Amino acid sequence: MHLTQPLHKALQERPDATALVCGQRRQTFTHVVDRVARLAAVLRDLGVRPGDRVGLLALNADRYVEYLYATWWAGGVINPVNIRWSAREIAYSLDDCDTRILLVDANFVELARQQLELSRSLKTLVHFGDGPAPNGLEDAEALMALAQPIADARRGGSDLAAVMYTGGTTGLPKGVMLTHGNLYVGQLSANMAAKRPDEAVGLNMAPMFHVGGTGLALQLMQRLCTQVIISAFDEIKVLEAIQNEQASETFMVPTMLKRLIEHPRFGDYDTSSLQLVLYGAAPIDDTLLLQAIDKLPHASFCQLYGMTELSPVVTVLPAWCHRPDQPRDRRRSAGRPVPIAEVRIVAPDGNPVPTGTVGEIAVRGPMVMDGYWNKPEQTAEVLRDGWMHTGDGGMMDKDGFVYVVDRLKDMIVTGGENVYSAEVENAITQLPEVSMCAVIGVPDERWGERVHAVVVLRPGQALDEGTLLAHCKAQIAGYKCPRSVEFRDQIPLSPAGKMLKYKLREPYWAGRDRKVG
Ligand code: ATP
Ligand code: MG
Repeated sequence: MHLTQPLHKALQERPDATALVCGQRRQTFTHVVDRVARLAAVLRDLGVRPGDRVGLLALNADRYVEYLYATWWAGGVINPVNIRWSAREIAYSLDDCDTRILLVDANFVELARQQLELSRSLKTLVHFGDGPAPNGLEDAEALMALAQPIADARRGGSDLAAVMYTGGTTGLPKGVMLTHGNLYVGQLSANMAAKRPDEAVGLNMAPMFHVGGTGLALQLMQRLCTQVIISAFDEIKVLEAIQNEQASETFMVPTMLKRLIEHPRFGDYDTSSLQLVLYGAAPIDDTLLLQAIDKLPHASFCQLYGMTELSPVVTVLPAWCHRPDQPRDRRRSAGRPVPIAEVRIVAPDGNPVPTGTVGEIAVRGPMVMDGYWNKPEQTAEVLRDGWMHTGDGGMMDKDGFVYVVDRLKDMIVTGGENVYSAEVENAITQLPEVSMCAVIGVPDERWGERVHAVVVLRPGQALDEGTLLAHCKAQIAGYKCPRSVEFRDQIPLSPAGKMLKYKLREPYWAGRDRKVG
């Protein structure tokens, strides 16, 4: 199992079909494979040997996808750098991975140059060529012969393919070691479980320095689909791409979906080509999901739950569960395990809890990471007895549907009761005045922690605390209702669009320890 295998298949089966669309540039599979082969040769000439890490600092682009595959073709390990990191954070990651070569696009040349001084390990910068694709393609026969060795299905497997960083939603991101086998079966099962058609035009806007964007790129390549790439999320670019390229499937985190359907010009575009909207990576509130289903009536919706450490998809909530005739509760679930994942819910001692009881979600299977790069203690904390302990609280019902209730770190323990922040947020976001809401635990003399809501109102809307609390009391148990409310203009988000609750908690917990889980 080698991640480059689909390239060989593409030459054979869809050589002249469009593989990558990026801005004005459209390339066939033959074109892409040709470039990948040349870039791989360049990387080898620059000294990349099997197992060497290759850094990548760039916005999403067709070039990004080419460099991923070129690195793997050359036997290297891709080390995507988060574009939002500071110069020092980037240097830390490069040094941590002992990355000697960094591929960089035109947007980050300055930042990359600084790395030559800041980072001890970095020796070489390679700029993305941004001109037209080279003329004079290898002739098809020669290219096929070149691709033959990479088609060997016995390669790859347990070889390291990537050090991908986690989202940094709960603190410092961790470098996750994923093998060819991990990523290959992970994308196969994501493709299969969501029942995605072969004839598709995928739209990729999730950052590729996270596993969400990279995963989608690999899934589409595995199915030999056309892939339209957007450099970074932008409502108009997304709407134009759907309309002009007739995009049929995409993946969005809930905050992207929200921005898209609420954009004032949403209605000006034809979105009827969109058949499948995959969403996930963070909890979605029911109000948003129903609005999205309503505004994109041609699309089926399908939820994915997963994490970087699990390559990344673990459960899928299929389209049929979103139909109005299905139980409403089911829509709140993250679905059933993908075929390769074994999921169970465990107590802190590692033993399974009874069906329907909340515990920690633990996962076993061929997509579980090798470990965190250079972090044996953190690896040992989460990988125990062959199970990956996700840090997510959840439960499984008798039919095998998994409900992600909250991250254990975000769960609030107040007066001995557990409150799941997502449930309270779900109640608050039902109020039409509310745009976004984060519920956190803050210190409380009497209760240990108290439920605190940080609320962003829609532009021009007003809401008083009393109305908000009365609404909550009508929806959820008293102990779950916020004891305090704070109105703000915005909530800090990670590059992947997730609410950074640790940042909201920080000022309240300064100098104190917060027990979690
Ligand atoms: P870090 O580990 O650095 O704090 P992160 O956990 O956000 O960041 P990722 O690996 O990108 O990094 O995200 C995985 C997490 O996202 C899961 O552990 C879970 O908490 C959350 N998540 C993913 N999918 C869903 C979903 N469908 N519903 C609810 N939460 C989800
Ligand atoms: Mg995580």
